[in-house]
Amino acid sequence: MIVEGRPVIHFASSNYLDLAHHPDVVEAAAAAGRSHGCAAAGSRLICGNSDLHEDLEGALAEFLGAEASLAFSTGYMAIVGVLATLVRPGDIVVSDSLNHASIIDGCRLARADVRVFPHGSVDALAELLPVAAADAARQGLRVVLALDGVYSMDGDVAPLPAMARLARNYEAIVLLDDAHGFATLGHSGRGAAELLGAEDGVDVHIGTLGKALGSFGAFVAGSSRLRDLLVNAARTFLFTCALSPPQVAAARAALRIVQAEPLRRTRLQGNAARLRARLAAHGIATAPSATHIVPVIVGDNESTMQLSERLLDRGYFAQGIRHPSVPHATARLRLTLMATHSAEEIDALAEAVAEELPRAIERRPGERSADPERR
Ligand code: PMP
Repeated sequence: MIVEGRPVIHFASSNYLDLAHHPDVVEAAAAAGRSHGCAAAGSRLICGNSDLHEDLEGALAEFLGAEASLAFSTGYMAIVGVLATLVRPGDIVVSDSLNHASIIDGCRLARADVRVFPHGSVDALAELLPVAAADAARQGLRVVLALDGVYSMDGDVAPLPAMARLARNYEAIVLLDDAHGFATLGHSGRGAAELLGAEDGVDVHIGTLGKALGSFGAFVAGSSRLRDLLVNAARTFLFTCALSPPQVAAARAALRIVQAEPLRRTRLQGNAARLRARLAAHGIATAPSATHIVPVIVGDNESTMQLSERLLDRGYFAQGIRHPSVPHATARLRLTLMATHSAEEIDALAEAVAEELPRAIERRPGERSADPERR
C-alpha cells in the first residue's frame, strides 16, 4: 500500500486472499456496473433485487451446503439483524466474552437476557448452558449460543465441536460469526466449522464478503425457513439499500476463485505459521493465535502506537489496537497475513518487530508495558 506517497508492506489487511485486486474480481465489478449500474437504488424488497443478488446467494448456500443464504449490506448489519429477529425480548443468549461488537449490539437491540462465559471456556459453558436451558424451559424462552469462528483480535478459533455438542444437548440454537474464517479456513474454505468438523452443529452461519472475498457485504446461511424469516422480519435487511451490483458481482467472482484456487488458503495459513514461528524465534509470543490474525501484545496504549509508528517508518503497515477494541492493558499490534506475502517480507517484519518492540517499551520506564503472561 502507499502511505503518504511511500510504498509500505501491508500487514493489517482483511483482504486475506488478495482477491480485492484480482483481475477477474475487478472485471466482474466493472461489468456489473456497466450492465446493472453502480447502485441497487433501493432495498431488496422494493427495487434493489437483481439476478446478481440471487445468483450470489444461491452460490453461497451451495458452497456452504446450506439450504439458503441471504445477503446483507455488512457483517455488522447481518449479525445485528439476525439476533434482533431470532431472539425475542427475554430470550437467552449465551455469549463468549470476546464475541464481536455486532453480537453484543444485536443482543442489546433484541433485549436479550445475555449470559456471558469466559472466552473459549468449554467448562464454563457446560456450567452455564444447563442453567440457561432450565430457565428458558420454565418461561417458554429460546436459548441461542453465539460464537465467533475466529476471534478477530487474538486469532484463535472457537472450540466449536465441544461447544456445538453442548448446545445440541440443551437445544440451543448455534449462531456462528465466521467473518474471518470464511474462505480462509477449512479444506474447501468453508471456514472454522469445516476446519474443526463441526459444520452440522451450526444453525446460523454468518460470513462476510468484505474480508477474504475482497468485496463488501455479508451473508447469513442456514435453513430456507431462516431465510424466509429474515427476508420478512430482519429490519437491517428490510430497511436499507441492497448491495450494489458491482459489490455482488465481485463477491461472486471471488467465490469462484476461492473454490478453484485452494493454494491461496494454504499459502495464507503457511504464511501465518511462518510469522508465528519467526516471532517465537525472537522470543515474542503470539498465543493464542492459530490463524492468519497474529497479535503481539504490548500492554499500554502509548508503547503500542509508538511501535506501530516505528514499523511504519521501516516500511511496514502494522496497526496498533487499543481499548475498547481489546481489553484494557492488552493493547497490541494486530498483524494479519495475506496469501501473497513472501517469506522474505514475513521474516523481515518479524525482525523489525523484534528490534522495535524493546525500544518502544523502553521509552516508557516504570510503566507496565508488556504482559508477562504473554511474553
Ligand atoms: N464479525 C467480526 C468478527 C468482525 O471482525 C467484523 C468486522 N470487523 C464483523 C463481524 C463485521 O463485518 P463487516 O465489516 O462486514 O460489517
